[in-house]
Amino acid sequence: MGAGIMGTSTALFLARSGCDVELFDHAAAPMMGASRWNEGKIHLGYLYNADPTLRSATKMLAGGLAFKPLVEQLIGCPIDACMTQHDDIYLVHPESVVSAPQMADYFGRLDSLISGHPDKGGYLADISPSVPLEKAETSRLAAKGLTHGFRVPERSVETNWIADRFVDALAAEPRVTLRSSTQVLGAHPVGDGWSIDGSSETHSGFDMVVNALWEGRLQVDSTIGLRPVGRWTHRYRMSLFIETDEDLDVPSIVLATGPFGDIKNYPGGRSYVSWYPAGLIAEGTELAPPVLPALPDVADMVPQFRNALVKLLPVVEPVFSLARRVVAGGGWVFATGGGSLADPGATLHRRDEFGITEAGTYFSVDTGKYSTAPWLARRLADRVLELAIT
Ligand SMILES: Cc1cc2nc3c(=O)[nH]c(=O)nc-3n(C[C@H](O)[C@H](O)[C@H](O)COP(=O)(O)OP(=O)(O)OC[C@H]3O[C@@H](n4cnc5c(N)ncnc54)[C@H](O)[C@@H]3O)c2cc1C
Repeated sequence: MGAGIMGTSTALFLARSGCDVELFDHAAAPMMGASRWNEGKIHLGYLYNADPTLRSATKMLAGGLAFKPLVEQLIGCPIDACMTQHDDIYLVHPESVVSAPQMADYFGRLDSLISGHPDKGGYLADISPSVPLEKAETSRLAAKGLTHGFRVPERSVETNWIADRFVDALAAEPRVTLRSSTQVLGAHPVGDGWSIDGSSETHSGFDMVVNALWEGRLQVDSTIGLRPVGRWTHRYRMSLFIETDEDLDVPSIVLATGPFGDIKNYPGGRSYVSWYPAGLIAEGTELAPPVLPALPDVADMVPQFRNALVKLLPVVEPVFSLARRVVAGGGWVFATGGGSLADPGATLHRRDEFGITEAGTYFSVDTGKYSTAPWLARRLADRVLELAIT
């Protein structure tokens, strides 16, 4: 259930191991949700610097290092053409919840964790330790108030590019039957198996069920009596996906750490920009996400994003002034934890509690991040296959 990167990857792994899979999604086509409309940072853990325990980083790292080899296996081609070509720059925002010295300490500890990891060769590019930026470099990129920055070895992928290839891989897989335009309302056990309650009919005869519905996951889990532990939020975030005629000489920059913004520069004149305060459209803490209001018009979003970002990062201006096409895209962010990103103590800054919940032959998976999805899907498929054999 759920044809995002999590459900699609799991379905492909299982089908290629000989299982017949039915894949449900309420959208008209697969990969139309958060997995298409995000910035594709393949996390190594640098962003989770407000969790000094390194627990979030440790989990992010395992997924981030497995991402490229697993995705290439799933879609059947290299992903180099859609990867950012330079290491990310983190600039410390004046209202950052983590100070520059704290960040330097965290990055140093994370560098050591990464350098000892057996899978570090699998990442998108060679990994070098983080380095503080020279003062001249920081002032070339940023406005006066931003005085500290770091170059970190993280890269990103263009998620639209990858989504298109996942759609093709699904279409080429005869063991996967796609049930698009089908809202899943719930699941219930029947004999040794399961039935899925769809919006217009009940689908029966399944040996196992995987719930990878992301924003719809908790509500469907509740129909079989599975309740989440702790707190969580659903936030709907929109960003801008911009095309220019040429590749731009603009670095990929994250304003760290808190509810700010960032920019990604992919090959082929494609960029992503976000400004959190303007891009946050809806937020809720109920089992189901809140009803979405009418989405803002791209023409209204552009000046808001542009004014806010260019004020802090003048170097970003060409992305807007040379834009040929701008698309606003968004998706749900489900995160365990609570509080506000502007609060250093908010548990929302931690991202270590996602993963697979097993209830007999029913599996519910909190993807955590885009970058951790293929890694979790591999583990989930292995577990399903193990149960199928026994
Ligand atoms: C703006 C933004 C930026 C982000 N940046 C990053 C980043 O840089 N790096 C990173 O790792 N992660 C990032 N994320 C998070 C990432 O996008 C998600 O973790 C990931 O895409 C979730 O994948 P998924 O397959 O679980 O969910 P989805 O891709 O949303 O797939 C779930 C599917 O379930 C379907 N569905 C839901 N409910 C129902 C129902 N009841 N019935 C039928 N179908 C249903 C939806 O239509 C959807 O297709 C970002 C998210 C956003 C929104």
